Amino acid sequence: KLHNTILELKGNIRVFCRVRPLLPDDGAAAEGAIISYPTSTESLGRGIDLKQSGQKYPFTFDKVFNHEASQQDVFVEISQLVCIFAYGQTGSGKTYTMMGRPEVPEQKGLIPRSLEQIFQSSQSLKAQGWKYKMQASMLEIYNETIRDLLSNNRSVGSDPTRSENAVSGKQYTIKHDANGNTYVSDLTIVDVSSITEISSLLRQAAQSRSVGRTQMNEQSSRSHMVFTLRILGTNESTEQQVQGVLNLIDLAGSERLSRSGATGDRLKETQAINKSLSCLSDVIFALAKKDDHVPFRNSKLTYLLQPCLGGDSKTLMFVNVSPDPTSIGESLCSLRFAARVN
Ligand code: ADP
Ligand code: MG
Repeated sequence: KLHNTILELKGNIRVFCRVRPLLPDDGAAAEGAIISYPTSTESLGRGIDLKQSGQKYPFTFDKVFNHEASQQDVFVEISQLVCIFAYGQTGSGKTYTMMGRPEVPEQKGLIPRSLEQIFQSSQSLKAQGWKYKMQASMLEIYNETIRDLLSNNRSVGSDPTRSENAVSGKQYTIKHDANGNTYVSDLTIVDVSSITEISSLLRQAAQSRSVGRTQMNEQSSRSHMVFTLRILGTNESTEQQVQGVLNLIDLAGSERLSRSGATGDRLKETQAINKSLSCLSDVIFALAKKDDHVPFRNSKLTYLLQPCLGGDSKTLMFVNVSPDPTSIGESLCSLRFAARVN
């Protein structure tokens, strides 16, 4: 049942690893087997080995998807979770996993699939007197500034992040209310109550991120994208009410400072990303160790996700890995980070 699926989940953090296929632009012909993971007959396993200069680094996760795992294979494994992150260097497949290509049925990512599945479940529960309302929002956090991805009248200056907030006077302040709900002031909330509304929402989201890509000089790889779906259910005969929240997060690229060769503003930006990713890992490690103090307030991302990370929510982290031989160092960092979370 939908409300069971969404609400009565308890548990810990799980980590799934996904290796994307080799792409034409990847580094020269693979120098031997650099990454070995479950073979083609077994697109789903638990182990992944990374080999560099004769050294072998073995890792184990809750699941490992190889390059042949389809979007459907991945989706089947996530149903029931409420907070899902994609972590990995730029180009490793985070956006493909989260959003994919919504217009191509077999390439739809987790966001379109979740929306459609929740919508279908809500339709099938109508007969038992349940009525559902679904509300979606989508934002980007860039250098600790929030940008609304579903706003119709975003300004399109050379730096939309600053100009949008400055011109519109929008604050996008994160608030937690007494009932444990989280709101971002001024953020656009879109009702999704039909398949048509879902596709128009996804079109708008895709558009607004691609605008970001060209106008903000690859800003999207340096910002976190948070997609939130709130589900409110009312049973007209029993007057029962249920509420659930699903957060799907496409994190900023995890690449290290040294490799990006950043200076000046870029340096500041890279540090801000690293800082918010390290705030996220601090929170996750504090939760894993059941620490009394969890530093949610140290970044916008962790503060926004506080109710979803803490409490009884289920959290899943995808670690996305590229098979590109020139990315081996970053892949190793990503896997080590994920192994610590796990
Ligand atoms: P990121 O968001 O981590 O920067 P992307 O999701 O944009 O990376 O992926 C980089 C490229 O690899 C894109 O062209 C994407 O379509 C492709 N890609 C990633 N994962 C897969 C996959 N599992 N199957 C096919 N293509 C993929
Ligand atoms: Mg991306």
